[in-house]
Amino acid sequence: MKSYQTNNPAATQALAKQLAQLAYPGLVVTLQGDLGAGKTTFTQGLARALDITSRVKSPTFNILNTYEEGRIPLYHFDAYRLEFAGAEDQGFEDYLGTDGVTLIEWPQYMADLLPNDRLEMTFTRMGTGESDRQITVQGLGQAQAVEEALTDGSGK
Ligand code: ADP
Ligand code: MG
Repeated sequence: MKSYQTNNPAATQALAKQLAQLAYPGLVVTLQGDLGAGKTTFTQGLARALDITSRVKSPTFNILNTYEEGRIPLYHFDAYRLEFAGAEDQGFEDYLGTDGVTLIEWPQYMADLLPNDRLEMTFTRMGTGESDRQITVQGLGQAQAVEEALTDGSGK
């Protein structure tokens, strides 16, 4: 597990840029954290670093937005609305661990679909500042190498 502290959106996006440089087709990244924690901000930074020029916003209503114009396809899920609906039988598997990098907000609502090889990230408001965030990264299976390649965080 690596842990980072950021105190502005740009610092969170700098971490996203690092991840974009390590991303490969098939990488799945789960983004956990409360509303406003910074999950979409992180995704926007990653998209930009993949040379995606479209405006990335949270796909709350359609669950999944796809961006094909960058270096690698980006599949961006926001599973929040699946809390009661469930994630089965909607073809989401086609976007997990295939030809793109997949980022998933609210992954707990599609837990049954998550591959074992994945990078788990958590975003937490912390400290006294309005903009202070703790971000943790843990690689599982093949994604362990991605965690290891990231710069060392604060070590906590
Ligand atoms: P989420 O997708 O987790 O609901 P968003 O990324 O949509 O969160 O919103 C995060 C908000 O917090 C944005 O308005 C962003 O500018 C702000 N913010 C302040 N500090 C940070 C930080 N350190 N990292 C990320 N976002 C931050
Ligand atoms: Mg969001």
